[in-house]
Amino acid sequence: MSGVWPGETQCVVMLGFDVDGPSAMIRRNAEVERMPSARSMGEFGPRVAVPRILELLHEYDVPASFYVPGWVAERWPEAVTSIAAAGHEVGHHGYLHEAPASLSRETEAEVLDRGSAILQAITGQPPEGYRSPSWELSEHSLALLAERGFLYDSSLMGDDAPYAVSASEDGAVLVEVPVHWSLDDAPAFAFNPAVGRLDPMSTPEDMYVTWLGAFEELYARGRAFTLTMHPWVIGRAGRLRMLERLIRTIRGYPRVEWARTVDVARDFAVREGLPVPQRR
Ligand SMILES: [Zn+2]
Repeated sequence: MSGVWPGETQCVVMLGFDVDGPSAMIRRNAEVERMPSARSMGEFGPRVAVPRILELLHEYDVPASFYVPGWVAERWPEAVTSIAAAGHEVGHHGYLHEAPASLSRETEAEVLDRGSAILQAITGQPPEGYRSPSWELSEHSLALLAERGFLYDSSLMGDDAPYAVSASEDGAVLVEVPVHWSLDDAPAFAFNPAVGRLDPMSTPEDMYVTWLGAFEELYARGRAFTLTMHPWVIGRAGRLRMLERLIRTIRGYPRVEWARTVDVARDFAVREGLPVPQRR
């Protein structure tokens, strides 16, 4: 079969969790800080759902990548510690979930440095991967990431397997591990009146069918199956069970590699001989 992966690998599966907690809803509507009900729905993520997700990943021996806003890491450092202790990746996801396109270049740089410093203080390592809040990069984002020695970004949608993106005019390159809204739990499930999200929620069964259908085609084509999930969303009853069922089904396919995004990005950079930035 054809595909982009070396050796016997037919498809790479990357499970990603954006640990937004209430940060994204507060960023969208500052009033949420004073709305205990809405806020608690987000707090369920780092407090209740992350431990359940870690249990699930442990049970099936599956690695994953978690992207944590600095604001969330400050409030739930034990969530970050337990993610790192289990061997999963801790990536950058802004401070208070600021979409880069909404910031000046200077503020965007400050947010990047602040978020990195907070994660490094907890895990002992600076994050190598970045997933932008709301998947809205600014025209400066890639250059700012390259200047700071990030290995990869995961916010673009230009392919369904890793690719190289030019980050600046001086030749800096980043690995892009692309995403898509169809492989994200939020559009299907994130009902939240406090920020005006009133669309009907999908059923776990519908999500299972959609995601398995995507996996089957990506598998046949030898691409990457990259899921973006949010603990406060996917961690709710019925949905986590659906994710478990999906993991079990995909495990029945031969030559599937489960990987942290940082490892996929590093292997890609080495294979392609990319002049990726060096960590400063
Ligand atoms: Zn997010």
